[in-house]
Amino acid sequence: MTYYLAASVVLVGAFVVAALAGAPADVGMALGELALILGLGAALFGIRRYRLNSACPWLLVAAMGLVLVAGFLPSGVLAGTASPPSVADVLYLASYAVGGLGLLLTVHRRTPQHSLPGLLDSAIITVSAGLLTWIYLIGPILGAADVGLASRLVAAAYPLGDLMLLSLGARLLLDGGSRSVAIYSITGYLALTILPDTLNTLDALDGQTRWTVVVSLLWMVSGLVLGAALVHPSASDLYAPTTAENLDLGPVRLGVLMLVTLLAPAAQLLQYVRGAPTYIPLTCVSCCVLFTLVIARLGGVVAVQRRMAVTDLLTGLRTRRYFENAAARLPQTGDRAVAVLLLDIDHFKSVNDTYGHDGGDRVLREVARRLSQSVRPSDVLARYGGEEFVVLMPQTRPEDARMIAERVREAVARRPIEVTDGVAITVTVSVGIACRPGDVDETRQLTTFADRMLYLAKESGRDRVVGAADASLQAANR
Ligand code: GH3
Ligand code: MG
Ligand code: MG
Repeated sequence: MTYYLAASVVLVGAFVVAALAGAPADVGMALGELALILGLGAALFGIRRYRLNSACPWLLVAAMGLVLVAGFLPSGVLAGTASPPSVADVLYLASYAVGGLGLLLTVHRRTPQHSLPGLLDSAIITVSAGLLTWIYLIGPILGAADVGLASRLVAAAYPLGDLMLLSLGARLLLDGGSRSVAIYSITGYLALTILPDTLNTLDALDGQTRWTVVVSLLWMVSGLVLGAALVHPSASDLYAPTTAENLDLGPVRLGVLMLVTLLAPAAQLLQYVRGAPTYIPLTCVSCCVLFTLVIARLGGVVAVQRRMAVTDLLTGLRTRRYFENAAARLPQTGDRAVAVLLLDIDHFKSVNDTYGHDGGDRVLREVARRLSQSVRPSDVLARYGGEEFVVLMPQTRPEDARMIAERVREAVARRPIEVTDGVAITVTVSVGIACRPGDVDETRQLTTFADRMLYLAKESGRDRVVGAADASLQAANR
């Protein structure tokens, strides 16, 4: 790596010195090809060293090779023939296709589950960049009256290829996977390919050569940067699949997306102010697509936040707040039956004391799983507190509530629960039942009544279900 960096610096330095000294263009060209050969060598070394035997890095290297071969072509062939595309055009455009495929496979390997947020973010960037590409590059290229159609189409293929690379680069950078030096270098390589291409096209459109030296320098550096990506140790986990399901929309990413979205109308406004051609229908369509993508992205974030707000992290059940809101939304009085079960794990403290907090957590998760299998989909099952659970059962008569409560109690006690590897214990729950109409006047009073019943269940020995009928029986027996 150190030798590679040193050689790269020497080459870039030589190029700058040659350019400043006004050396002939061929010298710069030769140094550029040398840099590409060095980058290629480094890439091959990295592929062997880090066993990157998949198709992805090979395709990137093949793309570099095509550019190298195109660069070696005699200037007569490079300049093009009467009927484009020239051999050089074919090689350059093929390098886009091959390199693009390599990047696509890389993205696919890193995000096997195709994270939707990452896809939306890169789609937003692509649509916005696509509009700018059309306004500033493809539109003027296609509109050049004095150039033949074939030449215009070939010239327009370059910015399109760059747009594809930009889209894949954005996908790679925003996919939520680890951002190593290798990833930054690959995206840097893409940026250093797209930028000179764009400058070159702008120069060609204006009939100028303002950027020639800068373009050569950037191209040269891009090959070296790609070599650095594959020679750096972080290349070894280039394909580590990311498990990020939901990409956080932090302030930086949000700011970038906002700026990118605003570029579309801003470019149109600028064209209008400058008296340059405007692309109203295209901009309108792009903005509509951008709005839709942004709303879909934000909608995804809101949905995740909402789900998190009503989901208990440990057990995956609903939270107490969700239960309380659901109970408040039910009719408070009237004839429609409502029941509540309150459950508390018996002697849970001793589980924690004996098997540690992790063992206790495993019990909580397994009890939650068994409870959710024992209640109906229409019931609301929530974690009420530490080791307390609650079930809200709309349209449930007292006899049905008791039947479900017994089913739930048995489901917990029936089979032992593994607390640590190889150790399983039997856990029981006590259940309090409250029903309306009957036990209380209003739905919101059900939990308090169920809590009293739960207390009686604990008092009378645990591992049992207690409702109002049992309570009066107990009172009569005293
Ligand atoms: P009882 O039969 O009377 O209910 O006895 P108990 O030991 O279950 O008593 P209590 O309800 O007071 O104990 C609750 C314990 O639950 C105390 C607390 O440390 C533990 N706890 C609360 N939340 C969690 C949690 O998220 N994870 C674990 N592992 N323990 C928790
Ligand atoms: Mg408790
Ligand atoms: Mg308890």
